[in-house]
Amino acid sequence: MNEIIVVGAGFAGSVCSRILAEAGFRVLIVEKRDHVAGNAFDYLDADGILVHKYGPHIFHTNSKRIFEYLSRFTDWRFYEHRVLALVDGKLYPIPINQTTISRMYGTSPNEAAIESFFEKVRVPCDKITTSEDVVLSSVGYELCEKFFRGYTLKQWGLDLSELSAGVAARIPTRVNDDDRYFTDSFQFMPSRGYTQLFQRMLDHPRIAINLGTDYFERPHEMQCHHLIYTGPIDRFYDYRFGPLPYRSLRFEFQHFSDIESFQPVAQINYPNDFEYTRITEFKKLTGQVHDGTSIAREYSQPVGEPFYPIPTQSNEILFKRYQQLADNEHSVTFVGRLAQYRYFNMDQAVAAAMLAAETVITKFRKNK
Ligand code: FAD
Ligand code: UDP
Repeated sequence: MNEIIVVGAGFAGSVCSRILAEAGFRVLIVEKRDHVAGNAFDYLDADGILVHKYGPHIFHTNSKRIFEYLSRFTDWRFYEHRVLALVDGKLYPIPINQTTISRMYGTSPNEAAIESFFEKVRVPCDKITTSEDVVLSSVGYELCEKFFRGYTLKQWGLDLSELSAGVAARIPTRVNDDDRYFTDSFQFMPSRGYTQLFQRMLDHPRIAINLGTDYFERPHEMQCHHLIYTGPIDRFYDYRFGPLPYRSLRFEFQHFSDIESFQPVAQINYPNDFEYTRITEFKKLTGQVHDGTSIAREYSQPVGEPFYPIPTQSNEILFKRYQQLADNEHSVTFVGRLAQYRYFNMDQAVAAAMLAAETVITKFRKNK
């Protein structure tokens, strides 16, 4: 019998595996895709440009511990993400900041004037529960329509008012001219890409990996003392309470051999008018030098591979029913974005994995 089986070789599964292997456990990872790294997977496209197969991944965290842990497996390139949004034919910084307002209204307000502008347009809200509350109470109706409502509808197939507050709360509003997407203390890209980071993390004599293996298709080979599961939690329980909604995406990649730069920043958002939500130009994320350039247009869709848990009140209630089953398992740990049904960033998936692995180690030591 295997000592530990880990389902999924994304951040959650890989970090758990490494910690457990270093603690002396033998780990078998089963991954249904033909590669490691989960949704952070990157590869060289046919034209030699490092692209992210499942959408742009920018590493950012405030946790020194997580940054230092991952630094064991990669060097980093300093990178601060900047995003523009195309609204009424013009490009504006998003998150909305001083420059966004001055460009939109043709004035040059100082920070105090921006503050009183937001004070004037914001819609007071006693209790913030939805993403609409978040946006309206910070920037008011007009900016909500221009920057948020259309994007959100495309991305989630839902109105802002149907989504939990945490979704729109990811995007701050600023009165100064800071145009960075994130303000975390550590903002870096792995200098040789995410896949190489994973290859190094998984390079351990007590870790074996079976790629192209779906956990549910080979039940007789999956006997183990403890299972760590990072796939969708509803699938694990055979959809007993009905399927948990996950949002999917489709990516359209394009290479240009005759132009060096496609757009002014790595990411442009298209809140309105286009079918896609955003275009990413990969070289601008990775700093790669190349005569041509590769981009991806991102389209959101209701079916396909599960990429995002959908944070609504009713989905949370359904998830809690599955979580109750999970809480009663003694030899299965559920961890990661799909298994915990949480809109985790990479650093949060790493934090959850560290906690899960330590819990498993403690449990085994007690039982010895
Ligand atoms: P995953 O990476 O999804 O890994 C789960 C793995 O389990 C997958 O490889 C899957 O194939 C495998 N699996 C599932 N079921 C089975 C099965 N039955 N048998 C075998 N294997 C199975 N985070 C950031 O911090 N910054 C960003 O810029 C960022 N951008 C993102 C952009 C997009 C488009 C998306 C979708 C996510 C983004 N994220 C970003 C979030 C980031 O991808 C996740 O936080 C992280 O990948 C979660 O890791 P995970 O291991 O929980 O899940
Ligand atoms: N959002 C928006 N307009 C934007 C950017 C974001 O309305 O230009 C909203 C939208 O609902 C989106 C959420 O904020 O899904 C979170 O955005 P983020 O960029 O964090 O999404 P992710 O990178 O996780 O897809």
